Amino acid sequence: MTLDYNSLLMALAVSATCLGVTLFGSWFVRRSETFLLSCTPGLVLIVSGIVAYGLYVDDPVVAFAVVSFVLFHAGFAIIWGAGYQFRTNILPLRATIACALAAMLISIPPLLIGYDGLAFIAENAAIATMLFATACQYWRAREEALVPLIGITTLYCLTGISFVLCAAVLIADGKMVLGVAPSNWAEDLSLAICIAGMTGIGALSLALHQWRLAARHRLEAITDPLTGLVNRRALFDRYGQSLVGPKTAVLVFDLDHFKSINDTFGHAGGDRVLKIFATELAANCGAGDTAARLGGEEFALVLKEVTPDRAEMAAERIRKAFAGHEIHLEGETLTCTVSVGVAPGRSMPMDFDAMLSAADRALYVAKRTGRNRIELASHLHSVSIGSARTVS
Ligand code: GH3
Ligand code: MG
Ligand code: MG
Repeated sequence: MTLDYNSLLMALAVSATCLGVTLFGSWFVRRSETFLLSCTPGLVLIVSGIVAYGLYVDDPVVAFAVVSFVLFHAGFAIIWGAGYQFRTNILPLRATIACALAAMLISIPPLLIGYDGLAFIAENAAIATMLFATACQYWRAREEALVPLIGITTLYCLTGISFVLCAAVLIADGKMVLGVAPSNWAEDLSLAICIAGMTGIGALSLALHQWRLAARHRLEAITDPLTGLVNRRALFDRYGQSLVGPKTAVLVFDLDHFKSINDTFGHAGGDRVLKIFATELAANCGAGDTAARLGGEEFALVLKEVTPDRAEMAAERIRKAFAGHEIHLEGETLTCTVSVGVAPGRSMPMDFDAMLSAADRALYVAKRTGRNRIELASHLHSVSIGSARTVS
């Protein structure tokens, strides 16, 4: 049994339809992955284009070719748009439309004036360009998931090359007027590559989807949702097993009289204050340092490559900046303060737990001796109290 060209076209249409349904289904499960949803109308248009092209192969009426060109160009432009959206999270609607219109503009007029050979060359070239541009989007995002993204890039490129070959064979033949759908080895090869490419791209897009989901879950598991800082678990994952050397300092912060802010301004008001403090903390967190929310209104900062003096200065800077921050809640202006326990690294390395406990004990002393102050775990000296108004 031999498969004729039209049966293969239908096989391609079926495989594209299946891919469209699968991508739509995957999007449906987790609505945030909108690039999968954007692929779906692209595939619907391409499948419709394949059907129209199949009709043209059987009966070369110009109208069928025009319809198939319109559908293909719109479809491949959307596939490019979905790739752009995968990389940037923005659907480039205008660029997608411009891309589709440009492709139609170079390929449809020759068709209408009878130069169908020329039109097919332009059509193949336009589709190849859009496929390469799509490959480029996934290639630029390759850092995120190297294996599936290089796979997708390769498949889009191979498919693009097959369209270049179709255009090249038509150019080599040199016929500007064909009267029928082009039929040559490049067309057959392109169709086979499209069927294989479509299946591969489908499988890899799903893999990519899973990859993203897993990465997002991992991130969510280590992030405090209110402040965006890392949570207690992540802090212990990062440092829990390690010894803290002389150049690392552990700082623990606890907002003063925070309960009264909640009582006066409600939980939402309290949350605003927590976010403001987290921003202050993050601003003082350099590369290699870690700012974490331990829970409630307690935070920690791990500073790397600092002397005890510098750690103390950082704590004082944060305390002062936060105390001076005017917070506007429900038409009122308030300030809030923070107490800090600082455990500078000792020459004898200690485990992280012990450093955190030392900082905690110092924090307790800072609270007991007036709040809005910092206290060194060594108890050698402490910094004098600031004078910001606290809500109490
Ligand atoms: P101190 O100066 O001794 O630290 O007093 P405090 O009022 O800050 O401390 P306390 O431990 O009595 O109160 C902490 C409050 O923080 C109690 C709790 O309701 C509130 N809290 C814990 N987590 C959150 C949160 O995520 N959002 C808000 N708004 N409040 C929280
Ligand atoms: Mg507390
Ligand atoms: Mg507190």
